Order: sequence, then structure tokens, then C-alpha cells
Amino acid sequence: MNTDLQTFDVTVIGAGPAGLAAALEADRQGAKTLLIEREARLGGILKQCIHDGFGIVRYGEKLSGPEYAERFIERLPDSGVTVWTLSFVSGIERVGTDSFLTVITREGMKRVRTRSLVLATGCRERTSRQIGVHGRHCAGVFTAGTAQYYTNILGKLPTKRCVILGSGDIGLIMARRLTIEGAEVVGVYEAKPTPSGLTRNVSQCLWDFDIPLHTGKTVSRVFGDARLTAVEIASVDGCMCPIAGTEEIIPCDALILSVGLIPENELAQSIGVPLDPKTKGAIVDERNETLLQGVFACGNALHVNDLVDYVSESGETAGKAAAGSDRPERELLPVECDQSLLYVVPQRLDKAAAESERVFFFRSSADMDNALLTVSRGETRLLSKRYAHLRPPEMERLPLALSSEQLAGEEPLLFHLEEATHA
Ligand SMILES: Cc1cc2nc3c(=O)[nH]c(=O)nc-3n(C[C@H](O)[C@H](O)[C@H](O)COP(=O)(O)OP(=O)(O)OC[C@H]3O[C@@H](n4cnc5c(N)ncnc54)[C@H](O)[C@@H]3O)c2cc1C
Repeated sequence: MNTDLQTFDVTVIGAGPAGLAAALEADRQGAKTLLIEREARLGGILKQCIHDGFGIVRYGEKLSGPEYAERFIERLPDSGVTVWTLSFVSGIERVGTDSFLTVITREGMKRVRTRSLVLATGCRERTSRQIGVHGRHCAGVFTAGTAQYYTNILGKLPTKRCVILGSGDIGLIMARRLTIEGAEVVGVYEAKPTPSGLTRNVSQCLWDFDIPLHTGKTVSRVFGDARLTAVEIASVDGCMCPIAGTEEIIPCDALILSVGLIPENELAQSIGVPLDPKTKGAIVDERNETLLQGVFACGNALHVNDLVDYVSESGETAGKAAAGSDRPERELLPVECDQSLLYVVPQRLDKAAAESERVFFFRSSADMDNALLTVSRGETRLLSKRYAHLRPPEMERLPLALSSEQLAGEEPLLFHLEEATHA
């Protein structure tokens, strides 16, 4: 047991793209920085994403996940960042605005005191139990991420003939990957009327490989004892409930789920970080500081991002702010959205922030053509911007300069979207 207290300015939990960017940026700002990762290798989920398409915004190149992660990992030896792998943060206590971490490592338990804490713990996938698929939970029901891990890391094909439920990006990518590896993907089934993944993934992963997409359908039951033998597919009504009489049985040996990601925030909750029910991540200001002073959040732990490039950006934002040694009093103003948006991040603005430009990320709640975004405070309109197309799977990044006069008073900022009406 090694319980001597070690002290750092900034400690980052999670070494996926968000945590790597946060730690490198905190170090660049001169902070004594610790990066903690529970797995043996750095890179987070990118280690298993061997397809290309990462880094288009940041580098103008189509990199694979490991290549993208390597751009950050290769900078670590020349930095001052202390890296602990195979180290799991099992608990956090707060004393004033400092955080005390309990970390389980190969050398035993370690204790860390840190002035700033950055939560970069990523997200996890929803499972069959969370979406209420009936039947025995026999072998052969995988989340798409687990199927990706089997295929790309372990080199083992988890299925010969499968059904994919949900059209999230990981499911679309796995439909293509399993097909390339010789499995038969009977189809991708999606309860909603439109796919949940990026348009480019629908086109490149399904259409290019003749894999059918069935919308308005769900898996209502699974069959099998030791191993899955078939699934029951049914059409759904407007409330997403299976319609009796539409059932169809499809023989297969695996059901692969791509039904949503949930930010991993158990540690955040254990210290009372307030979460946003819309994103399921922390409520943050424009520097990604949560409502607990000295605690920051970034990447998919903050909200599920569509592109890794934005994950790295949010890590850098958090790392830079976490490294700051001063703790200025914040004057937080709420940022809200109505039902035309799924969410907006950050959910607070610090009126006292040094920089006038703030970067917002949002998603529309429905497909919209020729949409008008307005940002207002009461009767005052701060921004009107047109978008040719908005789709919920595609996250939007909006830089917005706001003067201190525009932020005077207590009124919240309101984001609203409207589709142009066609005469
Ligand atoms: C299964 C899965 C597959 C994905 N596949 C794709 C894809 O194919 N294409 C794509 O564009 N995007 C994909 N994504 C989205 C992808 O997650 C993001 O683009 C990006 O990797 C998120 O980065 P992150 O650093 O926030 O999280 P992650 O990459 O998930 O990294 C979080 C890290 O935190 C560590 N951690 C968590 N808790 C602790 C703790 N208590 N102590 C220590 N370490 C901890 C984890 O081990 C992990 O390494 C996928 C996501 C998932 C969940």
C-alpha cells in the first residue's frame, strides 16, 4: 500500500482524446499535471476505431482512431505530464475547492491532492436492459462497442449472421466492418423515422455495402437458450411501441445494439457536480468549469460529441482553464434552449470572463431545412443565423462574441430554432 499524498495542480481522469488534450494543454500552461487512465493503453475508445474519418476538422486529414490518438500520445514524452495507466480513480473527496483522489494502481492504493480536477471519463453505451428488449438475455447480445472490441482488438468475429438495432454511428460502422470480415448483416433496424447516425456514415457504411436500413421498426423479443438463435422484429407506432400483428422472426446468432451513448458521470455525481438532464453531463460555463469550483468536464463525459475534433477542443478548453492559478469569482448567467433544440453547451456564461468570444455546441431536436437560429435575451436579439440543413445527429459549433453590455443584467440567453415556412 502506497498512501503517501502526492500533490498536483491539475489532475485529469481518463486518457481518451479529451483527457489527452486537457493534460497536454494544462502542462503547456505550466501546471504540474497528472493524467490517470484505468486501461493499459492511452487513447480511450479510439484504440478500437480502426476506420478512417477522424481529424478532418483539426488536421484536414482522414485519420484512423489510433492515428488520431497518436498525434497526442507522441507529445507526452516531451511534456511534463505524469501518466499513470492501469490506475482507477475509485473515489473523490472535496476539501474546500481542492479534490482528494483515491487511485487503485498496480503498486497499491495512491492518494492525490489536486487544485483542479478535469473529468474526461467518456461515455458508455446503452444496453438491451435499458431499452427493454424482451426474452432471455442469452449470449449473442452485444453493444456495438463490444462487437467492435471483439473484432478490432481481440481479432475474433462475434457473429456470422446478425441484426443491428439502432442506427447510431457505431452501429453503422460495425455493419460495414462485420460485412467486410465476412459476416452477414441482415439489416439495421431503427425505431425512429430517420437514422440516428451521421449522413456520411449511412451512405458509406450501408448504401456502399448494400446493407438495408429499416426505419420505424424495433426488436421486440430475442430467442435462444445458451446462444441467441433469432430475434423478433415489429413495426412501431408514434409512441415507439411495437404494433401487434406486424411481428417477423429473423434467424440470426447475434443482436448488435447501437441505441445511444450516456456520459459516464458516476464520479462527478459522487462529489455533487450538478448535471444537465438534457446532456446527462455536467452543467459548465464557457471554460468547461462545472458548478463546483475547480472541477472541469470535457469530451463525451460532458456531452456526446459527433466528431473527435470537438472532443479534443473541449479538452483543451478545460485543460487551459484548469491550469489557471487564480480562482476569480464567477458571475454566471444561464444559457437555455427551448424544445426546438436537444441541448446547448455551455449552459452558463461567466459575465466576468476575460474573452468576449464564447463557443457553443448545440443540436436541433428535429430535421430542419433553411432553419433560423436566434439567440436572445428577453426582447433583445443577439444573433440570427441561417442553416441550410440541421439534423439531430449532427452537432453544430457556434462561436459568438458577446460584449459585457450584451451580458448585463440577469436575464438568461435563449437559443431557439425555427424552420422557414414555404409559401
Ligand atoms: C464504444 C464506442 C465506440 C465509438 N466508436 C466511434 C467511432 O467508430 N467513430 C467515432 O467517430 N466515434 C466513436 N465513438 C465516439 C468517441 O467516444 C468519441 O469520439 C471520443 O473518443 C470521446 O473521447 P473521450 O476522451 O471523451 O472518451 P473516451 O475515448 O471514451 O475516453 C475516456 C477514458 O476515460 C477512462 N476512464 C473512465 N473512468 C475512469 C476512471 N474512474 N479512472 C481512470 N480512467 C477512467 C476510460 O478508460 C477511457 O480511456 C465511440 C464511442 C464509444 C463509447
